[in-house]
Amino acid sequence: MRIDQRAVFIFAANAASCLPFNGYMDNNTTITICSCRWQLDIEGVTPTFENQRPKNQHPGSRYPGNTQDCLCMSASGPPPNQMLQMLDAADFDLLRPHLVTIELVRETVLDEAGAALRHVLFPHDGTVSITVSLSEGQTIEVAMLGRDSIVGGGAALADGIAASDAVVLFPGTASAVEIPAFRTVANASIAFRSLIIRHEQALLARAQQSLLCNALHPVEARLARWLLRARDLSDRETLALTQETLAQMMGVRRNAVSLVAHELQRAGIISYSRGQIEIIDLRALEATSCECHAAVKAHHARLFASH
Ligand SMILES: [Zn+2]
Repeated sequence: MRIDQRAVFIFAANAASCLPFNGYMDNNTTITICSCRWQLDIEGVTPTFENQRPKNQHPGSRYPGNTQDCLCMSASGPPPNQMLQMLDAADFDLLRPHLVTIELVRETVLDEAGAALRHVLFPHDGTVSITVSLSEGQTIEVAMLGRDSIVGGGAALADGIAASDAVVLFPGTASAVEIPAFRTVANASIAFRSLIIRHEQALLARAQQSLLCNALHPVEARLARWLLRARDLSDRETLALTQETLAQMMGVRRNAVSLVAHELQRAGIISYSRGQIEIIDLRALEATSCECHAAVKAHHARLFASH
């Protein structure tokens, strides 16, 4: 991949900060709509979202979760999403009535490039990959978003059109807000708009770092960086992940990932089996990673230190 192509990807990622939620559910699914103030279960609801099929057409996947999965903000605890945590009480009260807890189902295509957004997401856990694709079919991840992120915030305030694809990589839950409500809150609160702008800056910095990393750093360091980011978002040492998916996210051949994973396993840094990678030695993995992981984290921390 040439650098000029990556530049296009970075531009797309920057413009795409934005991932509407095009959910998926069966006709027999129980929906839990939940906020701190009210909770409602709807049985047998007909799907109301477009593009509702997960990428793998998994018929058993559900959207959203049940009452036990509800992680919406409670009166006793902070919101599960770090961006929501940064809102003061008044701004959070503006947004909270519009938040709906949803389930992020693995491999669900949340949005497709060129499609209109319907939701902005504040992930609680799980991860969403922002990917861009060439007409020949090649795909690469330009950012991994999770609980420290907003999915779709920037684009929701712009033209409301996704410039890249968004796919659930690791399952979890998120708070979703529809675009009109999101815009209403943004229009009402300078602090909320400032948060969105800072987040978009953080996302741009992340994409820029990925541009540099993909062009200049070896696959081993990039793989370590990718695993560290996934761990940060999941708090798990074990990641359900195939090498094929990893290779696709990194934009390298599967053989290259296999060779590097084998070396890391032989060094006792990770272990892998079919469909699963476990981080054994976190410190060694950090040492294997390039500087990009720490650089992006530092930039993110600086952007939000005063917010
Ligand atoms: Zn790097």
